[in-house]
Amino acid sequence: MEDSKNLNFIEKIIEDDLAAGRVPGNKIVTRFPPEPNGYLHIGHIKSICLNFGLAQKYGGVCHLRLDDTNPEKEDMEYINSIKSDIRWLGFDWGDNEFYASDYYERLYEIAVRLIKEGLAYVDSQSPEEVRKNRGTLTEPGVNSPDRDRPIEENLRLFEEMAAGKHPEGKYLLRARLDMASPNINMRDPALYRIKFAEHPRTGNRWCVYPMYDFTHPISDAIEGITHSICTLEFEDHRPAYDWACSIDGIDHTPHQYEFARLNINYLVMSKRRLLSLVKNGLVSGWDDPRMPTISGIRRRGYSPEAMKDFIARVGVAKVESTVDYSLMEFCVREDLNKRARRVMAVKNPVRLVIDNYKTDITEYFDVENNPEKPEDGTRRVPFTRELFIEADDFMEEPVKGWHRLYIGGEVRLKSAYYVKATSCEKDENGRIVSIHAEYDPESRGGETADGRRVKGTIHWVSASHCIDAELRLYDKLFKAEDPGSETGNYLDDLNPESLVVVKNAKVEESLGNVKLGDYLQFMRLGYFCLDKDSVPATDETPARLVFNRTVTLKDSWARMQSKEQKKG
Ligand code: ATP
Ligand code: MG
Repeated sequence: MEDSKNLNFIEKIIEDDLAAGRVPGNKIVTRFPPEPNGYLHIGHIKSICLNFGLAQKYGGVCHLRLDDTNPEKEDMEYINSIKSDIRWLGFDWGDNEFYASDYYERLYEIAVRLIKEGLAYVDSQSPEEVRKNRGTLTEPGVNSPDRDRPIEENLRLFEEMAAGKHPEGKYLLRARLDMASPNINMRDPALYRIKFAEHPRTGNRWCVYPMYDFTHPISDAIEGITHSICTLEFEDHRPAYDWACSIDGIDHTPHQYEFARLNINYLVMSKRRLLSLVKNGLVSGWDDPRMPTISGIRRRGYSPEAMKDFIARVGVAKVESTVDYSLMEFCVREDLNKRARRVMAVKNPVRLVIDNYKTDITEYFDVENNPEKPEDGTRRVPFTRELFIEADDFMEEPVKGWHRLYIGGEVRLKSAYYVKATSCEKDENGRIVSIHAEYDPESRGGETADGRRVKGTIHWVSASHCIDAELRLYDKLFKAEDPGSETGNYLDDLNPESLVVVKNAKVEESLGNVKLGDYLQFMRLGYFCLDKDSVPATDETPARLVFNRTVTLKDSWARMQSKEQKKG
């Protein structure tokens, strides 16, 4: 076992348990227990990496358990997305796919047994009364008038509840623990409620559904979970967890450990809020590339490795904190720098005509795909008399310090020739429509015969070979660090510029065969990936290429902030 200094607190617990022989069969069993009421988000990645990572590290197993006890909010779509998101991260639960609903019969039997032992009762207080009589953090609760209902009557009522004879909210099955407990979760917690909802897996078989604090520990016990790891908000539920695991007939005792959830500034990460963004049409769906969902970041072009690196850097602690958004983007850039294929794309094209270049010929340059990874090879990039360059890379009359193209000035066309601008043409509004230039035939590949150098290098595409493309430029979905902290409504802090669509960009020919999931760098513009809205070419219509900007090349926010700090 490794140096204990490098272990997080859960690893320490596990290593101690293993060393002391406290783990049955010496095999740890963890679980990732999402509720299928939405898509997984970046916070879940932390829990997934922790649970699956521990199982891998210590030769154990990690179960996937869909915690499906809330039928009206749950859906097969969510179950399927959860599975594909975990697989995308590179984790595998093998045959260990479980559902809380697998245990409904067992849970029902346990509830009946508790009633028979006088440990549970049917409460007919209204939901408001139940809430009111639960007491507060400083005041004890008040016993329900039904607390001493005879066992036979409890049994009959519970059976009637399960048989659909009573409306929702009329009765509640509660454990008979202690209404004066200092821990509110121990004040006769609810075990079962009536719900007439169709369940995604059990259909209409049930109209009573078990509560989380009853279902979760017993599911853990049934599955032989050794270390049940959850976020800090469940710390107060631990006594209820331990109580459920101590019910007679439950012969395995898992232990619950809590860690701090992942919070990231500028993001909201509760499924409820994410669902409302989707429902209100504020984003295009759960997989909108601006969403902090796993499907969103995947579509945006983040890789699983970048996210695992990010999670590893954040670490596992017992104290809540908020991680900087820019740390996540830093990890994404580091990863893409290593893997992205460098290509040329022109966002805001203007025509460049090289008057002294032959018409009707195409010359090819071998361009490296990734200078960070020579093994990725080269590709052939066509060069012709007419090119597109960025309109922003040209000024008719240069301002001081301008190193790019201007009339009389010379730049290097990336991987091709030196060119010098000679004139430009404008439309009736004074907008530049084309630039004329002359090239230096001796400067092929970037070296000149006389050894002269230029400061500016600009990117380009061949006008007769390039492909039209749409670029979607994303920024943060929220403009405030803590969305909603000022007004109480996080929607007030939506960033109106979180998506800028560029309709008529031009990309190099080699992108004709780009695939979904390829990682790209558009030189000088940022990291990009193909979006699923793209449509391949047919015999009649050309391809419609849509690219998402994954992240800019540099962190312009951090730079702006540090400039402001210097100024201020
Ligand atoms: P949300 O609050 O976003 O709706 P949740 O906690 O209700 O999430 P579950 O489906 O119950 O979502 O979560 C499954 C597991 O993921 C739980 O063990 C939960 O503790 C963990 N988890 C949820 N959010 C985070 C987070 N931000 N950081 C770390 N773990 C998280
Ligand atoms: Mg939850």
